[in-house]
Amino acid sequence: MFIVAIDIGGTDIKYGLIDENGKILYSSKIDTEARKGKEELLKKIFNIVESYQMKNLISGIAISTTGQVDGKLGKVVGGTDLIPGWIGTDVVKILEKKYLVPVIIENDVNSAAIGEMWLGAGKNDNNFLCLTIGTGIGGGIILNRELFLGEGSVAAEFGHIQIEKNGKHCACGKKGCYQTYASTTALLDFVYEELGIRINGLEFFQRVKNGNKIENEILIKWIDYLCDGLSSLIYIFNPKKIILGGGISKQGDFLKDIIIENLNKKLMKNYLDILEIKMAELGNDAGLLGATYILLKKIEKNY
Ligand SMILES: [Zn+2]
Repeated sequence: MFIVAIDIGGTDIKYGLIDENGKILYSSKIDTEARKGKEELLKKIFNIVESYQMKNLISGIAISTTGQVDGKLGKVVGGTDLIPGWIGTDVVKILEKKYLVPVIIENDVNSAAIGEMWLGAGKNDNNFLCLTIGTGIGGGIILNRELFLGEGSVAAEFGHIQIEKNGKHCACGKKGCYQTYASTTALLDFVYEELGIRINGLEFFQRVKNGNKIENEILIKWIDYLCDGLSSLIYIFNPKKIILGGGISKQGDFLKDIIIENLNKKLMKNYLDILEIKMAELGNDAGLLGATYILLKKIEKNY
């Protein structure tokens, strides 16, 4: 069985052909060109699908996308102002009608969480939380090996939990959201505020490892914010595992150790004793693989 998986981000669209065991047979990426809007984006999706469809290869289409998604309705319901018109587009209906194969759509962080459960850092776990730290902070809640979605299918928006009253402005229109203090963007904004330079995450961590004092202080401040949010989540869920994804997962144990040290100061011991912080293992493929898994379950349930 072959699935076309497509992961739509604000900057690029990753896509690939994946089999029922999660083996990626082919993958590539193109620019999203988000500002061109819904029609152009649909055209890109059609082109990707048809590049496989012509060979009569595919059993379904699995889509992971930025934004808030209602998987049951098969469309994006919020959070993608970046792509004009994308909210409300009946992606699943349009594609199922056009290609006569089963289709699913899910939010990219939820997809990544499911991907990690299937083949990555949560492979043997029934329950865990997943946070993707990047431009913002996204969340996914895995309960009994399924996504916990909430009544409107948009649960786990951890990035918009308020952690600073009257704090920095967030893209959501509110102030002091977790992601404006603890995302990678926030970290690099701290660097700009302190040092007046724009660098990327990898460069930042290299500077810390080189022993730069100010960078190290910035890291400690950022980790403190990151752990403020994590400790609230830990008190709510009492989880056995939290998986951290996004570019920072490349920092591995170096980052994990600092996080655990900080959490030690914030949490009661019995919460921490059972908790494992783990870096995501699937990298950029998590969304593609997770969406594929969700589609395979839909096919199993007799599409
Ligand atoms: Zn917000």
